[in-house]
Amino acid sequence: MTYQPVIGLEIHAQLQTRTKMFCNSVNDPDEKRPNVNICPICLGHPGTLPTINKKAVEHVLRLGLAVGGQLADRTEFDRKNYFYPDLPKGYQISQYRLPLVTGGELAGVALTRVHLEEDTARLIHDHKNGGSLIDFNRAGVPLMELVTEPMIKSAKEAGDFARELQLLLRYLDVSRANMEKGELRVEANVSVKRSSISRFDLKDPSPKVEPLGTTLGIKVEIKNLNSFRVVERAIDYELKRQTELLERGEKVVQETRGWDEKKGITFSQREKESAHDYRYFPDPDLPPLRFKEIPEWQNLAATIPELPWQKRARYEREFGLRKEALEIISAERRFYTFFDQVAKQLVKPELVGLAANYLLSDLAGLGSVWPAADHFVELIQMIGVNEISSRAAKDILTTGLKTSPRQAAAKRELLQQSDETVLRDLVNQAISKNPKVVADYQNGKKASLQFLVGQGMKLSRGRANPQVLARLFEEILA
Ligand code: ADP
Ligand code: MG
Repeated sequence: MTYQPVIGLEIHAQLQTRTKMFCNSVNDPDEKRPNVNICPICLGHPGTLPTINKKAVEHVLRLGLAVGGQLADRTEFDRKNYFYPDLPKGYQISQYRLPLVTGGELAGVALTRVHLEEDTARLIHDHKNGGSLIDFNRAGVPLMELVTEPMIKSAKEAGDFARELQLLLRYLDVSRANMEKGELRVEANVSVKRSSISRFDLKDPSPKVEPLGTTLGIKVEIKNLNSFRVVERAIDYELKRQTELLERGEKVVQETRGWDEKKGITFSQREKESAHDYRYFPDPDLPPLRFKEIPEWQNLAATIPELPWQKRARYEREFGLRKEALEIISAERRFYTFFDQVAKQLVKPELVGLAANYLLSDLAGLGSVWPAADHFVELIQMIGVNEISSRAAKDILTTGLKTSPRQAAAKRELLQQSDETVLRDLVNQAISKNPKVVADYQNGKKASLQFLVGQGMKLSRGRANPQVLARLFEEILA
């Protein structure tokens, strides 16, 4: 019997806003001092009233548009009731019945929903002295939760989905989405299902035939996966563990598991309290939101930039960029804003391709001292018409390009000589100085051409365009 992987993801992203989800405290993920961005509202004091952060809602709506989901005409916020020390109110404000976004699709995976909620405080366990400390800076930070359908079929596919979501969040300026900082948190639900079809029921001995693999297996939820690599490793491990359990005739237990990085295994954290009863109900302190009543939201589609998958497709279609190059360039804003600017001016695919190569091989390693886009364009054009050799171009690029590249090249005597009247002179000189080689060449020894070109280069002190030299030798000696 074989088993097929079934994976569904639940991903949280901290949103990039000036203030928190329901109060005016600053949302600063980089704040190191504990408990400075706090107020009675995000501390959960009784009698305080929350106010909805419009920007946070807008972020989720824009993400919803980008994934082709359905934006709710009317949403509400619900209280999700549970007790934990990082949640002083005793409930988290979240969305249950009416999420902001329903459906949609990303990287080939169907989305169930995307909703908005608030983050909890951060608990810091003091292992030395015992006890725990609480930092409320994170309490009430806007948090987006995205849930996929259980339809992902491999660890790699799950990793790719999460990476694509990270890119999308960054393109939209919705979240910084750094996994190692907890700005993007991935939980993987993993199960395997039988792919064979017969099943016996003792009370009814006629074999029941199910359509192939319609019944989902018991799922395990893996939490605290703090890098894409770990997401993939943990899923792979879990798929193997579950398959082996079932092959031995044992059962998968529905539970939450963690990832042990040292051992490279998942481990049981807690068994599922069958169904949590959070006693969700609409928060009476917050009004339902009516999308159509907010004028600025009627034209949100106009704020959606070119999206990662659209950019990649365009790079391939318009410039024929290699897969690797277009993936690297489209993955980082610093790269693609520069590249897009440059490509717009260069237009010709050969030149744009050349620009991509120089961007990846030379600029990428330069740190912050990139040339101005205009200068870079000029340099690429010079390389394109052999005004400068690629060797000299690299020299100019890596030593910093502060003036126009034509000026820089002239100053350092790096300009290639392509003027035929000048080069014709050099060719004639080389011919008269090397009668033996010329005779060899004319007697059919084609390799002698290289020697003659070398002589021409020498006479030009290395500045002649070798292609033009070669062509002139061929013409004159024909
Ligand atoms: P729960 O009620 O346990 O929270 P949900 O139905 O809300 O479960 O689904 C939560 C996540 O688990 C979703 O991402 C969904 O795709 C995924 N999921 C649900 N059932 C399975 C399954 N059998 N195997 C893998 N993932 C699953
Ligand atoms: Mg759920």
